[in-house]
Amino acid sequence: MWSNCLLKTLSRRHSTSFRASDLAVHLTHTPKTMPHLDQSLIFGKNTTDHLFWVDWDFEKGWHTPQIVPFQPLVLDPCSSCFHYGTECLEGLKAYKTATGKTLLFRPDLNIQRLRKSARALALPDFDGAELLQCIRKLVDVDKKWVPDKKGYSMYIRPTMIGTHQQLGVTKPGSAKLFVVSALVGPYFPTGFNPVNLYCDETRIRAWPGGVGDKKIGGNYGPGIAYTAEINKLGYQQLLWLVKGNVTEVGTMNFFMLWKNKEGETELITPPLDGTILEGVTRDSILELTREWNEFKVTERAFSIHELTQAAEEGRIIEAFGAGTACIVCPVQKIFFKGVDYEIPMKLGKSGLLTKRLLDHILSIQYGEIEHPWSYKVDYN
Ligand SMILES: *Cc1c(COP(=O)(O)O)cnc(C)c1O
Repeated sequence: MWSNCLLKTLSRRHSTSFRASDLAVHLTHTPKTMPHLDQSLIFGKNTTDHLFWVDWDFEKGWHTPQIVPFQPLVLDPCSSCFHYGTECLEGLKAYKTATGKTLLFRPDLNIQRLRKSARALALPDFDGAELLQCIRKLVDVDKKWVPDKKGYSMYIRPTMIGTHQQLGVTKPGSAKLFVVSALVGPYFPTGFNPVNLYCDETRIRAWPGGVGDKKIGGNYGPGIAYTAEINKLGYQQLLWLVKGNVTEVGTMNFFMLWKNKEGETELITPPLDGTILEGVTRDSILELTREWNEFKVTERAFSIHELTQAAEEGRIIEAFGAGTACIVCPVQKIFFKGVDYEIPMKLGKSGLLTKRLLDHILSIQYGEIEHPWSYKVDYN
């Protein structure tokens, strides 16, 4: 009895999750003008009218979740996110179907991953189903920002930061979870634009025992300057290795369709060994291709030498990166130790599988194919 009573008092004082039913919605009085849907939309620049936020602190737990007009954050300059990288993020999109319905694509996986990233930074946990309902409401409030033109979408960026106002390197005593969104255009407005990869074994993005499998801001900043350098050499992305094994390309997962040594046609991608970000797109590609059952689908470690040898022997059929922004991105060539290895592209600007995966996943996202991965935003 007594402990039950105490628990109740405690839980009233300390909230272990915010609740979507407590959501306070403050609508803007000055809606922005919608940008023109053309190819010059800059990624993440055209933010919508509202944002979601909720604060947490050690004493009280989670505060009241809110949807408010889009506005700057006011933070203490001593907030731990500015000093020790207590920041993690997610990226997903909302799509408008031909019948005017708004859909999200597997949002539960993004929320699960956000909780995992937050745990790695000692940021507070919450009930994922509650955040999903809050995001649903945010997208519904801003649904005119989900363009009804295939290829266009609303990009949604859930973010968590430590706001702890002291300069000690400790577990954040306060935090903020917020979600912003922006209208985005098609990644490939004029058809595929294949990328050239630069592979340099002296540069490392992630390592065993590290946090490469978490979407935390600290994983991305350090790659920016080097990527800008290789851009000048005509390469768009880095092909990251761990101990000679291929891991990821830029901020995408890596896939290769090849004839393996046994002569079998095989789609291969590195396994989730802690150095690989577990992409929602990666998971979707694996599940779809396993369902098709037309070739072998394998998650296993493979080295850059296996790749370059296969390229020399003409066994590579196609290769591509995978992620929410582009879905799939064809790879045209890979530079390693002074040699450019050409990757075939049956369709000129991509391989057959790359194109088929793009079309198939797009038709699920835009509701042309009914699929359990689609999450309906509309309340009626
Ligand atoms: C986000 C991300 C991916 C792709 O994940 P998706 O869920 O498919 O968008 C792959 N690799 C890295 C390093 C990433 O940050």
